[in-house]
Amino acid sequence: MKIIADLHTHSIASTHAFSTVTENISFAAQKGLYAIALTDHGRAMDGAPGAYYFESLPVIDKEIMGVRVLKGMEANIIDYSGKLDADEKLLSRLEWIVASMHTITLFGEPSVEKCTDAYLAVCENKNVNVIAHSGSDYFKYDYETVVKACRDTGTLIEINNSTFSSRRDTVKNCVEIANLCKKHGARVVVNSDAHFFTSIGRFDSSLKMLDELNFPEELVVNSSIENLQKYMNEKGIAI
Ligand SMILES: [Zn+2]
Ligand SMILES: [Zn+2]
Repeated sequence: MKIIADLHTHSIASTHAFSTVTENISFAAQKGLYAIALTDHGRAMDGAPGAYYFESLPVIDKEIMGVRVLKGMEANIIDYSGKLDADEKLLSRLEWIVASMHTITLFGEPSVEKCTDAYLAVCENKNVNVIAHSGSDYFKYDYETVVKACRDTGTLIEINNSTFSSRRDTVKNCVEIANLCKKHGARVVVNSDAHFFTSIGRFDSSLKMLDELNFPEELVVNSSIENLQKYMNEKGIAI
């Protein structure tokens, strides 16, 4: 399987990532990627940019060096009702929203029930495209219930390549989630979550896992331009 787009990447705007948007796009072009999504962190993350940064993303061309550049955000899920750290107006203006839980931006003791409720609400949020790196033991949820909701709402579950190096203890959960996606026909997206340009387009560990699970290629939205464009069409994102 081949991945043609990296749809979760960070730039220096996140302040804990170390490459510029231009460096990231150039490297995506060098790797022959069809598309990249710029998804710097929402404001609840320490050092993250404010709304005006995201509102200004349209100054960046739609296509640069042959790469389709999607303007987006990694929005933080900040409570167990699934609330995100950006308002509806801003989220709806962006093209690609990744939503995720981080221990430093979600306050209050988690439980399986609370995390399940949060993810189910995120699935119902029309602005969200992806639930990212959800394999953490700390934020464990009812995988089967949420995977089915993802399938029904067209929300993508991320197979995050950085997990295999930075969150190794969560890999077993990622395998379980991916198997349930396969079982229930929920679509996934493979992303690098790059915080430095050399990780852009790096999907080796995610692909190895999907290969071992004999994961169907048609359920991976960024496994071909055709699959990705089909998804973008469904969501009303300009190709
Ligand atoms: Zn994240
Ligand atoms: Zn990220």
